[in-house]
Amino acid sequence: MPNDSQYVEILQSKAITEIQSCSNLKDLEELSHRYIGKKGELTLLLRSLGTLDEKERKKIGQKANKAREMFEREFAKKKQHLIMHEFESGEQDEWIDITAPGAKLPKGHLHPLTQIQREAKEIFQSMGFALADGPEIESEWYNFDALNIPASHPARDMWDTFWLKEPENSKQNLLSGTAILKEKPQKFLLRTHTSPVQIRYMEKIKPPLRVIAPGRIFRYEATDARHEINFYQLEGLMIGKDVSAAHFKGIIQEFFKRFFEKETVVRLRPSYFPFVEPGFEVDMRCVFCAGKGFSINKEGQKKDCSSCGHGGWIEIMGAGMVHPNVLKAVKCDPKEWQGFAFGIGLDRLAMMKYKINDIRLLYSGDMRFLEQF
Ligand SMILES: [Zn+2]
Repeated sequence: MPNDSQYVEILQSKAITEIQSCSNLKDLEELSHRYIGKKGELTLLLRSLGTLDEKERKKIGQKANKAREMFEREFAKKKQHLIMHEFESGEQDEWIDITAPGAKLPKGHLHPLTQIQREAKEIFQSMGFALADGPEIESEWYNFDALNIPASHPARDMWDTFWLKEPENSKQNLLSGTAILKEKPQKFLLRTHTSPVQIRYMEKIKPPLRVIAPGRIFRYEATDARHEINFYQLEGLMIGKDVSAAHFKGIIQEFFKRFFEKETVVRLRPSYFPFVEPGFEVDMRCVFCAGKGFSINKEGQKKDCSSCGHGGWIEIMGAGMVHPNVLKAVKCDPKEWQGFAFGIGLDRLAMMKYKINDIRLLYSGDMRFLEQF
């Protein structure tokens, strides 16, 4: 153990420096143990004084005692400082800002299909269309016969149908209906389109009339990215003395303009549906590429438009002028009244508006998908 006065000075300065740079109470206690504990460096130095001669002992002894006093003084000062510091930071951690806004609770929202249906309803209602509803289980009469699709008609094959088992007592009809319904026992099915609501509505309301009927429909078919066994349709019907295809074109063009919030154009192509004559497929000029079939990205590169399959037009719905036989089925004189009917696929609209590429996602119940809307 070196015990000259220079060593005492070095030891003292080293100890003080270490105390001052100490940042927590645990390290500080450890320092105290290392310097002035039972086997601490300063303790051992003081113990070794006995081996020196009197003169040296007095000189170094004084220095060593001073060093110890200084160590204890610095130690107490630092300890006080660290205690205060820890108290203050603890206080800060536990501090509560009572003016801070509360944490938001997770909130649910409407399914994208419900949102689309509401938007479509609002637009048609603002154009004077009434709202109607009908049952999802329909009779053969309302779903087919009254719409000019008799049992023997090959057009029935256009709709893959879920037929329901005949009730035990087939005379007892589940659904109230027309005189024809009472004449023959009815077969029941899950409605394949919303068109039966046209019949039900016209049985009650006499023309002129404007009505829409959104609802769920069913098809007995294999599912893939574009087909589901059930989906949503919005039926439209307008009957008057001089309602023409031009009225239809104007109304549907206005609907798409408001729905997609973009200027658009529609075109009609001849097509066949048993309940209309003439019938047409309706194409909408692609609102995503403005009918060009491609878009230009930020880098100036040409990119094919996937929404319209690069053709610039999107086949969006079926429509036509209501067939005289349909009007006759509801005792409405086709010589006096005429009008148009259409059916829009709401799933198709949702898929286009939100760029969804698989219809099955809409029915998956997958929160990762649904939370995006
Ligand atoms: Zn396009």
